[in-house]
Amino acid sequence: MAVDIRHNSQPAFISLDMSATSKTSAREQAPGDSARSIRVVVPRPMRSGFDYAVPDDWPEPQVGARVSVSFGRGASARDIIGIVTQLNPDDVHARLKPATRLLDNPALLPEELVRLAHWLSTYYHHPLGEVFATLLPSALRRDSNLPEARGSRRWVIACADADLGRAHVQRQAFEWLTEQRSATDDELRQAGISSATVRALAARGAITTSTDIDVQHQLESPPAPTEEQASALAQIEVNDGFGCTLIDGVTGSGKTELYLRLIEQVLSQGRQVLVLVPEISLTPQTVARFSARFGAVDSQHSALSDGERARSWMRCQSGETRIVIGTRSAVFAPLNELGLIVVDEEHDGSFKQQDGLRYNARDVALVRARNLNIPVVLGSATPALESLGNAKAGRYQHVTLTRRAGGAELPGLQVLDIRGHSLVGGISPDLIRVMRSHLDNKGQVLVFINRRGFAPALMCTDCRWIASCEACDAKLTLHRQPAHLRCHHCGHGEAVPAKCPACDNMELTSVGTGTQRSEEELSARFPDFPLIRIDRDSTRSKARLEAHLDTINKGEPMILIGTQMLAKGHHFPDVTLVVVLGIDGALTSVDFRAPERIAALLTQVAGRAGRAERPGSVWIQTLQPEHPLFACLADHGYSGFAQLELAQRQAAGLPPEVPLAIVRAESRHPTAGSELLNTLGDYAGVTKLGPAPAPMHRRDERFRWQVLLLAQERRALHAALAAHVETLGNQASRQVRWSIDVDPFDTL
Ligand code: ADP
Ligand code: ZN
Ligand code: ZN
Repeated sequence: MAVDIRHNSQPAFISLDMSATSKTSAREQAPGDSARSIRVVVPRPMRSGFDYAVPDDWPEPQVGARVSVSFGRGASARDIIGIVTQLNPDDVHARLKPATRLLDNPALLPEELVRLAHWLSTYYHHPLGEVFATLLPSALRRDSNLPEARGSRRWVIACADADLGRAHVQRQAFEWLTEQRSATDDELRQAGISSATVRALAARGAITTSTDIDVQHQLESPPAPTEEQASALAQIEVNDGFGCTLIDGVTGSGKTELYLRLIEQVLSQGRQVLVLVPEISLTPQTVARFSARFGAVDSQHSALSDGERARSWMRCQSGETRIVIGTRSAVFAPLNELGLIVVDEEHDGSFKQQDGLRYNARDVALVRARNLNIPVVLGSATPALESLGNAKAGRYQHVTLTRRAGGAELPGLQVLDIRGHSLVGGISPDLIRVMRSHLDNKGQVLVFINRRGFAPALMCTDCRWIASCEACDAKLTLHRQPAHLRCHHCGHGEAVPAKCPACDNMELTSVGTGTQRSEEELSARFPDFPLIRIDRDSTRSKARLEAHLDTINKGEPMILIGTQMLAKGHHFPDVTLVVVLGIDGALTSVDFRAPERIAALLTQVAGRAGRAERPGSVWIQTLQPEHPLFACLADHGYSGFAQLELAQRQAAGLPPEVPLAIVRAESRHPTAGSELLNTLGDYAGVTKLGPAPAPMHRRDERFRWQVLLLAQERRALHAALAAHVETLGNQASRQVRWSIDVDPFDTL
């Protein structure tokens, strides 16, 4: 956890004083004793707010209300939507322009979120107006009527043995919904179920929406807790104000089951619950599991349309929604009766936004929970070193689950040396034999490669020319069906050349293995077994993914090939063998978090396999079998690895031992970024490294430079950053883009 929560009071650099927004006055109306005014922030990259006069016929505006104000000078002035951050600021000395229109009364944004926005702006050094723009769904940032809180409701079965008499259409719809567990109005309509049928079923009491959750009559009864779960439940207190618990439990140990138990306690007190997950559209089972227990839940993820997102926001605010499950930005859901926040897979990089407001939703969840004085629960099989560090220091309660709930054994790790081996589909012949024996024993085999496409490079056999991106310092990936070269960094695509552009040699060869090549070569090698490939190219839609997951869950022997998409969140009980390919590139990454990320990934992939009757095994093939990471993981598991790695970070003076921030600058001009970063001053207590070229110096036609800032004290780091923001604002030219990244996810 990056945010310092040691002090209950706010550290001085995180000012929560609403008047902290500095201001610029829009001139016109003279200040008088009776004149009312408001300070407004607008969604522009400006570090200050603007003051406006409140027209006489307005009611008293509230902090957090949206207002339309005229912005800009003379002919270029136009009305834009801003947020009121302060009433009658006392340092107004100029004549003020009147505000144009008050959009909400009472305010749309609850005070709690306004306060959170101030914190975000200060902590991440991001303009407050843009923070609000990140916080609010885009449909609520327009000058139009608020959407109906109702909108698309989510329906669930209310009574499993409802008597439907001879109503065949209703029965069909009822059976469909039973199978789906839950569906929105939109989804029902898409399935050909009319709103009349829905109304009729609701009138019979057969189905219901989320408003009627009755936790006393859970739709699906929970299993009796295991011994470890029971002891965890006895330790975790959800009625006692702010506190953070880290549930550190191996895959399949019943963490989700624990969340459900805790959520039940909080719901029964009439409070709302927020659950953050890395990527919901990849794990439809998660939502299904929550709604099977509690009825309808609201899910917020990237696949929602603007309108759906805004309606979900309104349902949260009205209190209709009792449980929200969502990805990163759901951390801003306006829940006035929030009683618990759960962050599942808290180590996951998707919680960190990589552009604009570079926040980490896990850390924001902690700040929000502290502000509201409610508990927060973080869960993972591979906790971030930040979280383990906090647990070790006693700032978090540390609860461990060491055994799988169903009693299954965790698979063992085996490292296979492939130096000097010739490979088939990127796999050693020894492993092909192991695969065959698992398939013949009716097991499923999961092949994990973190590279999509056919091959990661295309090379000339004669002069060794390699196809590279014209806009980036990166090789182009060879794709098949249709054949083309593509850059995975900027998206640039081009045709495969017929001959080497450097020496005219006609023979070009693909180097390395991606998922497409594995698929092609393994299906030739194992023609009798079905093969499913899951990556971003093969599985674009949610429906396609669900169809694949259904096939896999039938349990027939088959080969699954996939990227991270396959490694995250799913549980495949019939997989008995996991094969990990192409890990060597990651082992040589320059990022200091690379070992942590590889250890987490290997542990997560391994965790997909095996159940009670059929223990799994995991094979990693590598050119560096002696790499200490493997021995450490095989002998001591992730927690053993994490202890050693924490000690090394401490010795090296790297996070989480000390806080880190990166100032980045990029430009089409080769050195403009570096010149800008050279203007940054030195500050006591802060080590400044750079400017240096970023590891990928050129990306998307821009030259990237960065400065790393490490400090003993977070306070010193923030003071330096505040000064840097000022310098950058004054010095930067239009050709250079700069950004501040506090607690960056990587240094690439
Ligand atoms: P995690 O979130 O740690 O991966 P889950 O909560 O998903 O673990 O549990 C893994 C599997 O074990 C699931 O199929 C779940 O239904 C089952 N399970 C969890 N807790 C229990 C329990 N107390 N008794 C029986 N089965 C359980
Ligand atoms: Zn050549
Ligand atoms: Zn590129």
